[in-house]
Amino acid sequence: MQADLIITNALIVDGSGGAPVRGNLAIQDQRILAVGEFQPPAGANTRDAGGKVLAPGFIDSHTHDDGYLLAHPDMTPKVSQGITTVVTGNCGISLAPLVRDAVPQPLDLLGPPGLFRFATFADWVAHLQAQPAATNVIALVGHTTLRVAVMDDTARAATPREREAMAGLLDEAMRAGAFGVSTGTFYPPAAAAPTDEIIDVCAPLAGRGAIYATHLRDEADHIVPAMEEALEIGRATGARVVFSHHKLAGERNHGRSRETLELITRAAARQPVCLDCHPYPATSTMLRLDRARLASRTLITWSKGYPAATGRDFSEVQAELGLDDEAALARLAPAGAIYFLMSPDDVTRIFQHPLTMVGSDGLPFDPHPHPRQWGTFTRVLRRLVREEGTLSLPAAIHRMTGLAASQYGLADRGLLKAGHYADLVLLDPDTVADLATFAEPVRRSEGIEAVWVNGTLVWNGRAASGARPGQVLRPAGARAAA
Ligand SMILES: [Zn+2]
Repeated sequence: MQADLIITNALIVDGSGGAPVRGNLAIQDQRILAVGEFQPPAGANTRDAGGKVLAPGFIDSHTHDDGYLLAHPDMTPKVSQGITTVVTGNCGISLAPLVRDAVPQPLDLLGPPGLFRFATFADWVAHLQAQPAATNVIALVGHTTLRVAVMDDTARAATPREREAMAGLLDEAMRAGAFGVSTGTFYPPAAAAPTDEIIDVCAPLAGRGAIYATHLRDEADHIVPAMEEALEIGRATGARVVFSHHKLAGERNHGRSRETLELITRAAARQPVCLDCHPYPATSTMLRLDRARLASRTLITWSKGYPAATGRDFSEVQAELGLDDEAALARLAPAGAIYFLMSPDDVTRIFQHPLTMVGSDGLPFDPHPHPRQWGTFTRVLRRLVREEGTLSLPAAIHRMTGLAASQYGLADRGLLKAGHYADLVLLDPDTVADLATFAEPVRRSEGIEAVWVNGTLVWNGRAASGARPGQVLRPAGARAAA
């Protein structure tokens, strides 16, 4: 056996959901050479895992890291919690294809001005390939980005000519390696898009085994019709529906995850569908009154109009300014916020559904971000697995790895299996923990001892190694379709 590295004495949790087994794992040329109870040859380069858990690298199924990958390629918030692949372009917003100095909300959630400089999706992919990040990337194209690129006025439905232009940009993106489309009809620049516009724009998804990820039009009182719309778009385009950051917003909707998960289970019998979520009872996006009025508490993450509001409660800022919520919003805008509007019981129930993947949904450039950007995966392992016991360790890791890989069509990642890419995380199941909190959101996790991406060490337990072995992944069918 000619291995670059053999990790010995590990508790192997292979990503399939099966029971852990003791064994070794050999890496050679970016891939797993062998895994199991083999004898390392004399003189081999070994690392003793000390009986700790060795798992496939985690796949963050829902991110807004499109611009962060370029600006901070060491990806510390992600590799420090064991993530080796990020899915970008969610909620309708992708960096490409769009060239703009100023962008409307919520596109500004992706980062500061200057990031939107890629006229084609292929330009962005080429840039990432030339200057790789530490993590791999699964890229989606945002429907809102396409609308802003093509339409002079996004407050209306797209004309047939505009739909054709967006479909053309999407087809080009799919050829450049995109895995599919995301929509965010919850947000102003896409709210006027009717179902048939989305179906027309998504025509290039047909026959490609593509993804249709959606931040639903409504996650509160009218969530069921919004889910039915997404399923209809999935059936019309042949794409796999991903219900993004599945949640029930507002107290009067708490408990309705029984109904929505039942709907997903029924839908899964007739079309490809899955969902992602994170383990917090609060969400985060641009500051909006509909969200603030549903929330028990609203925490400001940034404000251009009144920067002193950052990190404080919206109600406290309103009192300080002596303004009602509408006037306070006008004063703070543009701004971002965290909203406490989900029930912990719904979050647990959603996590236990067999089709639920883990997605951080973090906003990496926020000055006072939601802690999910730094702590989602380690919080699942600490809280749901170790403290509450609502998920077993193999089941939690399966959602973060094998399940996500199969949903996104990755044939050679997500499992510890000979021939698969060596995306790996070594962790201590007794100490792994998120340290990021709503009060102190930018803190590294504990208990993630080492992370490898394509066989190269990117996190040594204390710091990013500086290596950038990440690849822009291609859908399994891409070569055949091209
Ligand atoms: Zn979203």
